[in-house]
Amino acid sequence: MASTLRLNGKVAIITGGASGIGEATARLFASHGAIVVIADIQDSVGISVANSISPPGHCTYLHCDVRDELQVAAAVDQTIQTHSRLDIMFSNAGILGPLTSILDLNMSDLDNLLAIHVRGMAAAIKHAGRAMVAAGIRGSIICTASVAAAVGGFAPVAYTIAKHGVLGLVKAAAGELGEKGVRVNCVSPFGVATPLTCGFGMMTAELVEKLTCEAAVLKGAVLRAADIAAAALFLASDDSAFVSGQNIVVDGAVSVSNGLFSKTAKVVMG
Ligand code: NAD
Repeated sequence: MASTLRLNGKVAIITGGASGIGEATARLFASHGAIVVIADIQDSVGISVANSISPPGHCTYLHCDVRDELQVAAAVDQTIQTHSRLDIMFSNAGILGPLTSILDLNMSDLDNLLAIHVRGMAAAIKHAGRAMVAAGIRGSIICTASVAAAVGGFAPVAYTIAKHGVLGLVKAAAGELGEKGVRVNCVSPFGVATPLTCGFGMMTAELVEKLTCEAAVLKGAVLRAADIAAAALFLASDDSAFVSGQNIVVDGAVSVSNGLFSKTAKVVMG
């Protein structure tokens, strides 16, 4: 009988796995048979998430600030020492950063966003890619980009710049690592209620979901972290064995259609 466990026997690192999209993905990957290592900076939260994941023993936590290349390299080394292999790197850690306009842009904030999203994801691809190539593993590397990776206006300017960088990074890395059998893709969420989007001002999970539902072209569904995890599962598993260099955009079509024709037609036709 064919296994329904789509990641059976695979070992995955998930950066930013202590919360939100990374946490949902850690749970889903483990439920599909993967051994998961959460790499994050929220130590107590990360340990408690790892301990709560089933089946028991399928998830551990290690501290890793992705802004520090040595910590990213150590996370990869430690995972291989403990589990003998690395099949999947989900490079997902991120922050939104301050909601400032370009007119008030603080360059240190921009540097921090670039260090987490672009340098951090480049380090993750570099070290996971090296380990996969050295071991002859046809691995899968997935980065979390965003709808803000391709269109302006979805997020603050520094975040938008950083996510555009992630998209370029994924295309370049896929072009290089493909000949070694390693796939590199990204997943691009629209607004999901996580601490990243709910952690400021009056923003609640309900409001994030309402705003996303209203803006999306697709109606009748609520975007949740589990939907992004499902896209990451597809990219991590052999179901996507010939998919590389791609960006799976999970956004209810908001980044490809502005709905203008339907709105205009309603006005014109009454
Ligand atoms: P989240 O805040 O729930 O999770 C982000 C995790 O990244 C946290 O656990 C945090 O501790 C960790 N992290 C932050 N800085 C880190 C660092 N320097 N080193 C290691 N870990 C670090 O947010 P989320 O919404 O789950 O975000 C996950 C990814 O999804 C991010 O890359 C984010 O930009 C992206 N994204 C989110 C949304 C959304 O609407 N939530 C939309 C598009 C893209």
